[in-house]
Amino acid sequence: MPFPNRHISFYRKYASFVAKALGKPLFQSFLSWLLKRENIDKDSIQDIQVRIFPFHKENGNSLAGKIINKCKIIIFPKSAKFYRELVAKHGSEIAHSYVKSRAWATLIHEILHSKYSSDEERVRRLTERYFNIYARSEKTEDLESVVFEILFKQ
Ligand SMILES: [Zn+2]
Repeated sequence: MPFPNRHISFYRKYASFVAKALGKPLFQSFLSWLLKRENIDKDSIQDIQVRIFPFHKENGNSLAGKIINKCKIIIFPKSAKFYRELVAKHGSEIAHSYVKSRAWATLIHEILHSKYSSDEERVRRLTERYFNIYARSEKTEDLESVVFEILFKQ
């Protein structure tokens, strides 16, 4: 068992929170618009999985998501430790907003990779641009600039 038991319920809750954020109708219609605008065939993305546990790269950073064979997207959570520190520093409202925003930005990022494959620079630039467009439509959520900072400036 690679993860201590005490974190399992945290990660389960995190994953269902993320799945709910990604399934949100407003975000879903945003994605349809994005696919049309980028000329990406909507059937090219065949599978999106929200994983329960984080994935750490060799440098110790956690991976937000990845796309396999340009058609299967996997979304990973931040670690329980990171989340705990985020709540301690910014409060749980910001932390919730961050988790949702990270999931949205990750899915946008990986979808863009299905078109721009390994052009990381371009994918990052477009992710930030599209995320900003979506965030503006999220009027009720009050996405604060601190969330943007944590998402894109670190
Ligand atoms: Zn990337």
